[in-house]
Amino acid sequence: MSAPAPNPAAVPASIAAFRKDRSSDLLQRCRDFSAMLDALRAEGDYLTQYRLELLSPLDHEIVVRDPLTSAPKRLVCFDSNSYLGLHLHPRVTAAARRALDEAGAGTPSAPLLSGTSRWLRDLEEVVAAFHDREAALVFPSGYAANIGILTGLLRPGDLAVRDRYVHASLHDGCRFSGARGGVYAHRDADAAARALARDAGGAGRLVVTDGVFSMHGSIAPIPELASVAHAAGALLMVDEAHATGVVGATGRGTEELFGLRGGIDVLMGTFSKAAGAAGGYVVGPRDLVDYLRFFAHAAVFTASLPAPVFAAVAEAFRLMGEDPEPRERLHANARRFTSALEALGVAPLATGTPIVAVRVGPQATLLRAGRELYDAGIRCGSVSYPAVPADGCLLRFTVNARHTAEEIDRTAETLARVAARHGFLGKASPAGPDASPFGEPS
Ligand code: PMP
Repeated sequence: MSAPAPNPAAVPASIAAFRKDRSSDLLQRCRDFSAMLDALRAEGDYLTQYRLELLSPLDHEIVVRDPLTSAPKRLVCFDSNSYLGLHLHPRVTAAARRALDEAGAGTPSAPLLSGTSRWLRDLEEVVAAFHDREAALVFPSGYAANIGILTGLLRPGDLAVRDRYVHASLHDGCRFSGARGGVYAHRDADAAARALARDAGGAGRLVVTDGVFSMHGSIAPIPELASVAHAAGALLMVDEAHATGVVGATGRGTEELFGLRGGIDVLMGTFSKAAGAAGGYVVGPRDLVDYLRFFAHAAVFTASLPAPVFAAVAEAFRLMGEDPEPRERLHANARRFTSALEALGVAPLATGTPIVAVRVGPQATLLRAGRELYDAGIRCGSVSYPAVPADGCLLRFTVNARHTAEEIDRTAETLARVAARHGFLGKASPAGPDASPFGEPS
């Protein structure tokens, strides 16, 4: 039996519209979505920006298979989260190789059963010590960590309020937990205070924020949020995915940046950014970590990551603690890029972190501008809904320590030309008046 053809008149024109599709035929929703993707692919621009096939390591320069010609194509790459380049550091790759030889490709058992190897124990100790905490719990990914922490800690009847631009995993975790609450305006501690005051009845209470916001590159006002949370009897949970190893004099994240070491109650991070591999974690007092070890299903009902990942990440954390030079180079590179852009009339949404995002507008402009950058030999993140609001698409450049001055200057000049052509020179409204896909502040 052949599948019914998509009905072009009924096919929503954007991913945002598909979110609202409540048609009763689940497979028809998928077929309609495929029709939209096929139309995007046929235009070609989409293919140059999504699921590009890497033929090289993910580095400041990459080789991809050109989707239009199938030939290898070299690009300067501003779309890697390995801020310090540690995934390619010889000590890190050697540690992974040793663990591979000793433990094999995997440890396929849950960590509470036979999945706790000496590499996992070592990593837990290294990460807890890095953050000056008693204990650490490791998850298969940062996404899983946020779901596990929030659903493990919160119950229906509790209250969790979160910044409207937190990572999707925090939105999902808060919602999946069944706790009451909602979003407050971006980086607005007073709005967080009002949201807490509106619901005095929440049993357990939590304020949730990114430390460095993943899409905008802005930094949360951690001291103000900590005061607001603690004054209202709430704990502060901070996702330090883009802060660990990156901000603060020794890379300890936003706590160190603001001189508030130990001020975050529930500190979460990922191993998929500065540590260069994969996995997520939470650190804190032993009581909190022991509790989550049993109640965070995303760590309980799942297999351990392979030992080579643990070994690589532990070595990366040791390097982050020992050697400030890559972090200094990272920030010098980020400053060079943002200054060059500002001099050319392009206004990033925020400065002070290696995430340099430029607001482009609707998806059609994003795809066109992204294609022109690709043709000019530049790879960056083309960010559209649901990572950002539907009309708030971003070109996101993630600077790393391995970029050369020539790559940075050339990219800034090319981006300025593309921005002038598409009318997004100087567009900098930090949060934008646009609707968040995850809810509006009340
Ligand atoms: N939190 C933030 C702030 C992130 O940016 C990301 C990844 N983009 C995650 C959590 C999820 O981490 P992972 O990719 O390790 O699952």
